[in-house]
Amino acid sequence: MSSVLEISDLKKNYGRVQALKGVSFSVPKGSVFGILGPNGSGKTTMLGIVTDILRPTAGSFKWFGETPTDAHRRQLGTLLETPNFYHYLSAERNLRIAAQIKQRSEADIPRVLDIVNLTARKKDRFTTYSLGMKQRLAIGAALLGNPDVLVLDEPTNGLDPVGIAEIRALIKDLHQQGKTIIMASHLLDEVEKVCTHVAILKSGQLVASGHVDEILAHEDVVEVSAADLTALEQALQSLPGKSRVWLDGEQVCVSFPAGSSALETVNRHCFDHGTVLNHLALRRKSLEAKFFELTNA
Ligand code: ATP
Repeated sequence: MSSVLEISDLKKNYGRVQALKGVSFSVPKGSVFGILGPNGSGKTTMLGIVTDILRPTAGSFKWFGETPTDAHRRQLGTLLETPNFYHYLSAERNLRIAAQIKQRSEADIPRVLDIVNLTARKKDRFTTYSLGMKQRLAIGAALLGNPDVLVLDEPTNGLDPVGIAEIRALIKDLHQQGKTIIMASHLLDEVEKVCTHVAILKSGQLVASGHVDEILAHEDVVEVSAADLTALEQALQSLPGKSRVWLDGEQVCVSFPAGSSALETVNRHCFDHGTVLNHLALRRKSLEAKFFELTNA
């Protein structure tokens, strides 16, 4: 899978605040790529840099394998802050103004209204819209000109559950149409539900990046204990199917991909390797726990 965006050692300082401390990752073509992190971790700064709103202090990035040019920028649809729509104008008139500002064809407006499901309300004033509709219109404005890549900062922020579900469905549709979507989010649940890939930021540093299934995988952790913890830890290193083995106080923990642990197998393996267990228990690790472990939030 080729990359649409490659970020190399990106740094950004605001005075003495180091918002990004050397972040590198790449965004595969056709992915829904989540930039996940708690407040202040540098997500907005990262999106601002790759859309040329902010200058990096150091480091570089490439769009479509090349140093960014105006032609590349035209292939991006961006939604980085709440856009200033005219409250007394309709969706259609607002999109016309947006198309003029962005130098995109007005002929694209019916297509865009259709995608964001606002055709039936296109003549109504912006003030009469729900927050979810306003956000859909903002995504519609980003879609003018049919860009290959969308860059969205917290696209569901402030919406009610219905509005959130609509935006998530819209993002999934756009993904199915082959768009690459790069979106910042502080919600683990959102990234898990919508994204195919994720980069996790913590205090301006990259904690992990890759396929969501790998990075945010649920884990089963089995706790075991025996008189000789060193021998036990050693015995578990050769256990088939395990992910990791580590010492945790008076216990040894061994992790497995979710649902694949078997207490009997662990018990038998230890016994066959000369260790009799005095404790054996299954502890499931939630996604939340994994996220907190990663970001220490
Ligand atoms: P949030 O979800 O709260 O928007 P974020 O992950 O998007 O957070 P950024 O907004 O990129 O994070 O902020 C990263 C760090 O940079 C924070 O410590 C923030 O206070 C600081 N920062 C951001 N913009 C500025 C600025 N213009 N001047 C000074 N510091 C800034």
